[in-house]
Amino acid sequence: MKREKQYPIPVAVIIALFCTGLIACASNSSRNQQIKPDIYMTDLHQQYNNEAKKLAKELERKGISDKTVLTAIASIPRDSFIDKQLSAYAYQDRPLPIESGQTISQPFTVAWQTQLLQLKPGEKVLEIGTGSGYQAAVLSEMGVEVYSIERYRNLYESAKETLNKLGYYPNLFFGDGYEGLPEHAPFDKILITAAPEKVPEKLLHQLRIGGWMVVPVGGKTGQKMTVIRRVGENEFKKSEHGDFIFVPMQEGIVD
Ligand code: SAH
Repeated sequence: MKREKQYPIPVAVIIALFCTGLIACASNSSRNQQIKPDIYMTDLHQQYNNEAKKLAKELERKGISDKTVLTAIASIPRDSFIDKQLSAYAYQDRPLPIESGQTISQPFTVAWQTQLLQLKPGEKVLEIGTGSGYQAAVLSEMGVEVYSIERYRNLYESAKETLNKLGYYPNLFFGDGYEGLPEHAPFDKILITAAPEKVPEKLLHQLRIGGWMVVPVGGKTGQKMTVIRRVGENEFKKSEHGDFIFVPMQEGIVD
């Protein structure tokens, strides 16, 4: 019942009537047993489902055209990835704070980066910066094989818990994304969700030839969304796709 506080008023009223009318004398624990959570959770899931669908529609209006990305966004409960106190903002198109001074990216940014990846089911994708786990959920929904690295142990652990609770099982790693995952390379696509000042060389060499990386490159004041294609052993082609602001990509781990 972790979302109890977020019941919409009509559902809260129904619950209140149910509790006072039928089990007025029940204790907290027996009340928990007697209410059929399934019924209420179904309503609740429906509510979040509708909110996620509305968010996907908003992103479509804002220029996201890849239907597979929109479908993924429409089916993920973003509220599960943030602090309960921020639930009211979960389906607004804005970034939100998570633990350790990091952020869950703005949904438009998540969708934009994912669209730039042009994913095909079965591709092997490395994400740098698991954060809340939301982007990893989007990638999982798209039917790709997901690997994701986070440098804060607490974020790695809570993202894993959130994702597994929702039935997503991406390959999550606690470590420094600048190192990548040489033992699992090459990757078809690499997605960086924190901003390096320069493109991380080691990661470029973990792309398969023909694969590409989506990375916001630049300093604290802003970054250029950059796509880098590996077209040969040591040959790369670059294109830019708009201005964004991300938290910085930092070296080392925080245990
Ligand atoms: N994709 C995340 C966005 C999180 S913000 C989401 O959907 O919520 C960026 C994340 O990158 C932060 O959690 C930050 O800790 C992480 N990060 C920054 N530098 C990193 C590095 N070198 N290796 C791994 N993760 C890093």
